[in-house]
Amino acid sequence: MSSLSAVNADLHCHSVVSDGTLTPEQLAQRAHANGVKLWSLTDHDELGGQERAKEAAAALNMNYLAGVEISVTWLGQTIHIVGLGIDPQDSGILDGLRRTREGRSGRAKQMSEQLLKAGIPGAYEGALHYAGNHDLISRTHFARFLVERGVCKDTEQVFKNYLVEDKPGHVPHCWANLDEAIGWIKSAGGVAVIAHPGRYKLNLMQRDQLFEYFKDHGGLGLEVITGSHSPDQYQEYGKIAQQYGFLASRGSDFHDPSESHIDLGTLPLLPEHLTPVWSMFH
Ligand code: AMP
Ligand code: MN
Ligand code: MN
Ligand code: MN
Repeated sequence: MSSLSAVNADLHCHSVVSDGTLTPEQLAQRAHANGVKLWSLTDHDELGGQERAKEAAAALNMNYLAGVEISVTWLGQTIHIVGLGIDPQDSGILDGLRRTREGRSGRAKQMSEQLLKAGIPGAYEGALHYAGNHDLISRTHFARFLVERGVCKDTEQVFKNYLVEDKPGHVPHCWANLDEAIGWIKSAGGVAVIAHPGRYKLNLMQRDQLFEYFKDHGGLGLEVITGSHSPDQYQEYGKIAQQYGFLASRGSDFHDPSESHIDLGTLPLLPEHLTPVWSMFH
């Protein structure tokens, strides 16, 4: 019997329901074509694509876990928590996510005002044009608009020069609390996973504090193999998963065929010695 780690699982990606550019059905087809055997759509702060994703996966005989990526503010930093295997009808998580989304429109208007001062008019309307879901206007939609306007050559350049701390178009925002987000996921029957841990600007002490806090509040998983990590970071976060007893997850964080460097289902498999998060659902 081959090990459970060897499953081509992709448990992190985005559709037009948040800041991806493909529909849930197109993502399911792409994942399946790339050999994914267990898939999850994890739109930001939103469960509106779950029914379609589940049905599309079923039609392709691909295993599916309902998912979400929740925006959290912890020690003044934005941290992303993926919830896997949740009940997408659960009223607690639906209500929590609705409240988490609420501030997005106001924030987008403030971002637009700042960009106007930097000489870039019409950014709110421009970004909204890219948002498949007007409740979920995100920095990614602004980034696409800035590329369209020729302000930057690609979205990667946008996130170096705009929309981030100390650059035009950055508006600080307060998202959900970490303990609340873990609570919504757990109450909805799911497993909470820290997304792309290598991306946060935390010193080693803060990072350990995050893992301890997360674990103490019922968090179980850590993304080890993610499109945001280098091969060195696969090793580093694999060790941390073992050290803390976290279940390991794997996900591309795919958003768009031309923007995303890593396609669905194409990352290295989880190392054999780690316990995959999907062992919880086996
Ligand atoms: P928001 O939730 O509106 O703050 O937008 C966050 C999204 O912006 C993330 O989910 C990514 O899709 C995108 N993003 C943030 N930083 C970067 C980056 N450095 N390069 C590309 N996309 C990024
Ligand atoms: Mn995103
Ligand atoms: Mn993220
Ligand atoms: Mn993501």
